[in-house]
Amino acid sequence: MEPLTLARTPQNPASESLGQEADLSVRLKTIDPGLDLEAEIVRLKGDLNAVILAHYYQEGEIQDLADHVGDSLALAQAAAKTDADVIVFCGVHFMAETAKILNPDKLVLLPDLDAGCSLADRCPADLYGEWLKQYPGHTVINYINSSAAVKALSDIIVTSSNAVDIVNQLPPDQPIVFGPDRHLGRWVEKQTGREMVLWPGFCVVHEQFNARRLAALRAEYPHARLIAHPECEEAVLAQADFIGSTLALLKYVQTHPDEKQFIVATEAGILHQMEHSRPDAQFICSPPNSGCTCAMCPYMRLNTLEKLYLCMRDKRPEITMDEETRVRALRPVQRMLDMSKGLTPVQQKGD
Ligand code: SF4
Repeated sequence: MEPLTLARTPQNPASESLGQEADLSVRLKTIDPGLDLEAEIVRLKGDLNAVILAHYYQEGEIQDLADHVGDSLALAQAAAKTDADVIVFCGVHFMAETAKILNPDKLVLLPDLDAGCSLADRCPADLYGEWLKQYPGHTVINYINSSAAVKALSDIIVTSSNAVDIVNQLPPDQPIVFGPDRHLGRWVEKQTGREMVLWPGFCVVHEQFNARRLAALRAEYPHARLIAHPECEEAVLAQADFIGSTLALLKYVQTHPDEKQFIVATEAGILHQMEHSRPDAQFICSPPNSGCTCAMCPYMRLNTLEKLYLCMRDKRPEITMDEETRVRALRPVQRMLDMSKGLTPVQQKGD
């Protein structure tokens, strides 16, 4: 099992990352400990005409300050629609990049540039491009958890919310390559009944859920419903009562008022919204191999309230990319948004 360590990402190589860390550590010391960070962030939001987008895997205190809280699809939809001048993305690098792909003229800020993603990092564009040469004539579908350079090599981007619907929209005889998550790819194969060529990537957070420990937990809570994200291993998904994207898991909890206990096999940040919308229910984290009680994404958790404040105060770090890559990446992202119309509404805070 892969240890949960943070690597320098291809998007933020070691030299830049070390420079960023040094810069960040100096700037963190400039924060007055008595400062009301929440109030300052709200003030800066108005001053900058900024929108704050936060993924479900962020700390609850960040989710509570955001204009939109959602999964990757909902946040990409929100980024495509915003008329704010500045997008502050509380998520990981590939999500902020997607916002920049859609908004080349806006300032896109990410509180910590080291907030990468194990899936995106394990699918470098040069290797992926070489691998794709083996599959001419295939439609290249890529999970949104990939770098802008990998998106630029794709025909269509998908998220876990829309992958099944989008694959179902393709002609049945069209061969497909799917990257970079093998577990999501396998789940999409099962749902659609079609075979795809899968890139062997995985998420270090979702792959660490342990099927044996999960079975023991189910015995301990026999009335609990097990809900799981499709990035989990097959042996975990085989035990699940419901499988879906982060948003689908939240909606499942909201629409099953008679169920009072849920075992949740995804990143623990989603529990903030689940507990908010179902205060009468008990949520139990699926046990990860690490021995911890809950699984937390070490990349997502690099963003803090302090760093959110700093990135808005100092207008950095900023997401940048070369225009050729952006234009090539825009086409498959736009195709996803077009093919998803009507599938999943943008979720506003409080929905
Ligand atoms: S939870 Fe997994 S897929 Fe999501 S950002 Fe973290 S490492 Fe990437």
